[in-house]
Amino acid sequence: MNSPDFFSGSEADIPTCSAKGCRDAAVWVLAWNNPKLHAPERRKTWLACEEHREHLSQFLGVRGFLKDVVKFDEWEQPEGSERP
Ligand SMILES: [Zn+2]
Repeated sequence: MNSPDFFSGSEADIPTCSAKGCRDAAVWVLAWNNPKLHAPERRKTWLACEEHREHLSQFLGVRGFLKDVVKFDEWEQPEGSERP
């Protein structure tokens, strides 16, 4: 029952919140773009748990970077964007 392989790799497959020190599962995808660094159609993504969605979107929002906040389940990776 206690297979030593049980946890190997499985944790990396669960997308977690991008907030510093947070290990919660991601519920939201924050799509953003820094116009100084990225082509306009390019999307960087941060992941957020329910608790940090507001904090992270504010961080991006005040800088004018935030483009979209989408439920993780509904997120489709646009072409040319990167995983965090
Ligand atoms: Zn979090």
